[in-house]
Amino acid sequence: MIVDCHVHLSAMCGAHGSMSPRMLNSLPFRFMRWRFGIWGTDEQAERAIEGTLARTIQETPEIDAAVVLAFDAVYDRDGQLDPARTHLHVANDYVMDVARRNPKMLFGASVHPYRKDAVAELERCISAGAVLLKWLPVVQAFNPTDEKCIPVYETLVHYGLPLLCHTGWEGTLPVLDGAMADPLLLEPALKRGVTVIGAHCGTRGMPWQGGYLAQFIRLAREYERFYGDTAALNLPARWYAWRRLLEDEQIRRKLVHGSDWPIMPLPPPARLGWGPAWRLMGERNWMRRDVLIKQKMGLDEAYWQRAGKILRLKREAEVPREGEAPVVP
Ligand SMILES: [Zn+2]
Repeated sequence: MIVDCHVHLSAMCGAHGSMSPRMLNSLPFRFMRWRFGIWGTDEQAERAIEGTLARTIQETPEIDAAVVLAFDAVYDRDGQLDPARTHLHVANDYVMDVARRNPKMLFGASVHPYRKDAVAELERCISAGAVLLKWLPVVQAFNPTDEKCIPVYETLVHYGLPLLCHTGWEGTLPVLDGAMADPLLLEPALKRGVTVIGAHCGTRGMPWQGGYLAQFIRLAREYERFYGDTAALNLPARWYAWRRLLEDEQIRRKLVHGSDWPIMPLPPPARLGWGPAWRLMGERNWMRRDVLIKQKMGLDEAYWQRAGKILRLKREAEVPREGEAPVVP
């Protein structure tokens, strides 16, 4: 089963979630609204975004399903909700509902580890069909080495649920603590046996930034259960990483497919040549364009199947009936 493990949805209405004025007025978000022709912050706009995502997945026949990510609010270390520092909130219940309505969408849960009910909320999401837990520590303002994360790690190991955690530069959402971008902060999770996917492989966003690609590679060599997704690696600022990720067979085997939709992918001419790069720009569906670019780069069948295997997903015909034990690869 071919899965895109990294797809976003926004929410703006009532219990579904919220976006701060800073977020709504940000250049990346305004560009996406213009691109998709979606205006307003009402229920109609929210439905239009869901519809656009559903159509985008439907029109990407190369993939069988996409993991749609919830996004938890910011909590302080005492477990109190911090609305003033929350720029994006996409509720678990909303994504659960959307995934129920759309058979090609899978539910990616998001639970802030400092919440007082973190374990209970995670277990509730798992029983509702979550296929992974998503964290963005630089924006959600927490430290993955904090002891408050340990019960969450134990729960993930107990249920065999992978953690998809952002690593490296973040360019779309306001960053509250940039120091939390280092993949090495995920070592306590890995030491406890959690399967971790480092989103973006620790890549930097600007040429003058250091980035954490070397740290990502070190962890990927050291821990069998550490992977990296290819989300947003087709942004020019991250193109530099492809050579090191692809030339090393051991690291190649750790790459997992993710697009980071609705981020716009651009084909790297240095790897593909100007002609093919130009032709790939003709694909207007950004989720599919990202797939076509990665196919052209020669990513193999094992790469395309890896996300599904890590998330323990089987094609519908092979999915066990309710009550039967899930198949562990
Ligand atoms: Zn993302």
